[in-house]
Amino acid sequence: MSVLELRALEKHYGRIQAVNGFDLKSEEGELLAILGPSGSGKSTLMRMIAGLEKPSSGDILLDGQSVLGIPPRDRNVAMVFQSFALYPHMSVRDNILFPLVSRKVPKSQHQAKLDEVTRILEVDDLLDRRPTRLSGGQQQKVALARALVRDPELFVFDEPLSSLDAQIRSQARAELRELHDRTRITTLYVTHDQLEALGLADRVAVINKGRLHQVGTPRELYNDP
Ligand code: ADP
Ligand code: ADP
Repeated sequence: MSVLELRALEKHYGRIQAVNGFDLKSEEGELLAILGPSGSGKSTLMRMIAGLEKPSSGDILLDGQSVLGIPPRDRNVAMVFQSFALYPHMSVRDNILFPLVSRKVPKSQHQAKLDEVTRILEVDDLLDRRPTRLSGGQQQKVALARALVRDPELFVFDEPLSSLDAQIRSQARAELRELHDRTRITTLYVTHDQLEALGLADRVAVINKGRLHQVGTPRELYNDP
């Protein structure tokens, strides 16, 4: 249950100001949606939080400590991408264990972690399969299991439902909410879909042209649009 804080965060690409003086503080264990149209700076923001991109200025803190000097692998931030980004040549089991292997977690601990996350996400019967043979919904569960296995302080979900078929999207959304309620891992949930943000999140931060436009609970935003 960590607190993420963004302070005067800025990122420019040449003359393009992708993120522009962004201040935001999460609450412990909340599911916070970042809502904004395409090109508003959401991906840039998430990449900076995950350590994939350096801010031009400003600071990013987890539980009061700046994470800017920490490389992505050592940042305790787990990203789940729209495309799920599973490794096609590896089994589901090896996909899920990959974060432990790359962080050199002793092998003796792998099975217990695997059991724990496969039970939570109900992917036990998929472990020997290849991701390419799975449905979109199954791939998402595997991607979530791989994110969860490293005990992240923070989840960053980038449009996690948008590559799923419409029929399974509402079920997948409910499952995401359930995963959050169970783990209470502080989660940033990036979307351009207002209904999705309002229906799922504890609070919604609206971003426009790289700036924080407003932030509040769905009820607050709905009553004061
Ligand atoms: P989305 O809106 O889903 O983030 P985009 O098509 O805007 O997708 O961007 C896809 C990728 O291309 C992102 O990683 C983004 O950083 C990069 N990108 C976007 N705009 C530019 C640009 N003008 N020059 C270089 N890379 C860009
Ligand atoms: P979103 O995720 O909300 O679609 P992005 O963060 O991808 O927004 O993009 C915000 C702005 O920054 C856009 O104008 C985009 O074209 C620009 N941008 C993003 N990545 C790059 C990049 N690598 N190089 C140049 N411009 C970029």
